[in-house]
Amino acid sequence: MKITNKYNLPPIVVGAILMQQKAHKPVDGRIGVTTLMNPPLVFRLMQQHWDEIEMDVTDLMWAFEGSAIHSALDAFAKRYMAGNLSSEFIEKYQSVVPNSPRVETEKWVSAEIDGWQVRGVIDVYDIDNAALEDYKRTSTWSFVYRDKSMDSWTKQLNIYRYLMHVNGKEVNKLYINGFLRDWQSSKVGSGNYPDASFARVEIPVWDLKEAEEYLHERIKLFKESADKLEPCTPEERWRSGGQFALMLPNRKTAKKLFDSEKELIEWAKKFKVAKYTIERRKIVDRKCKDYCSVAQFCPFNIYNKKKAEEIPFA
Ligand code: SF4
Repeated sequence: MKITNKYNLPPIVVGAILMQQKAHKPVDGRIGVTTLMNPPLVFRLMQQHWDEIEMDVTDLMWAFEGSAIHSALDAFAKRYMAGNLSSEFIEKYQSVVPNSPRVETEKWVSAEIDGWQVRGVIDVYDIDNAALEDYKRTSTWSFVYRDKSMDSWTKQLNIYRYLMHVNGKEVNKLYINGFLRDWQSSKVGSGNYPDASFARVEIPVWDLKEAEEYLHERIKLFKESADKLEPCTPEERWRSGGQFALMLPNRKTAKKLFDSEKELIEWAKKFKVAKYTIERRKIVDRKCKDYCSVAQFCPFNIYNKKKAEEIPFA
């Protein structure tokens, strides 16, 4: 992977970012938990084009901020567990730092699944409460509109729980903790906007069998991708648009949107709408367009064939 510094960040910043970054060329037989949850196509294209992929240090900034938080938590937890906090610190902050449960931080766990080693790093394992805690530097909106985030948080933490189980440690509770990078005090009180720039959510615990099945399924997909590349799913491409709009004369906005033309026509018949036209909404694959590190090598990226503006729909 080629690293660039297009915006002339100071060397000390570049150095610190690069020391924290952990990206490596993907290899068959060994995979991290988050990579396993991501599309196999990205894994394969990264593997095939590793030396050509270009990344700017600014693309690594968010991961760097996340690492900085993890390092600070780890540093405090290690001193706390070793009884190395100064008496001055304890005296000064004892009212706001109550006794913490016993914890292990940055804990590596792994297990072999169908011949592949699946590995992960657990941010905090709360020994006393048999709980896993994951810490994220993330957008406030991922807590406000939680449905999408919950899906990936649930998968991630339940895989960790399964890996802990395989390694002889039972976990009963799972939590996501968010350091909210774009939180604004002016929005507090609207909907379920968090009260502070830190939020915490408990994650549903799967049956261990469910986690095991999910892991088998994912490993199978990754193995199969060595022989045949399959496109990422619409969800993995962060797709929006593509619906069919029922347009009425003298009205600029759609009367109603449908997932298929057939549904639209049936609806129009049912409600006796005689005069209308059908418009197809433009498809936008946000990840392919702006966020995928292998976009330029991807045979399924619609933006590689034409300019985005020229693609009304896929
Ligand atoms: S460009 Fe889109 S389809 Fe291709 S690997 Fe990236 S996300 Fe998947």
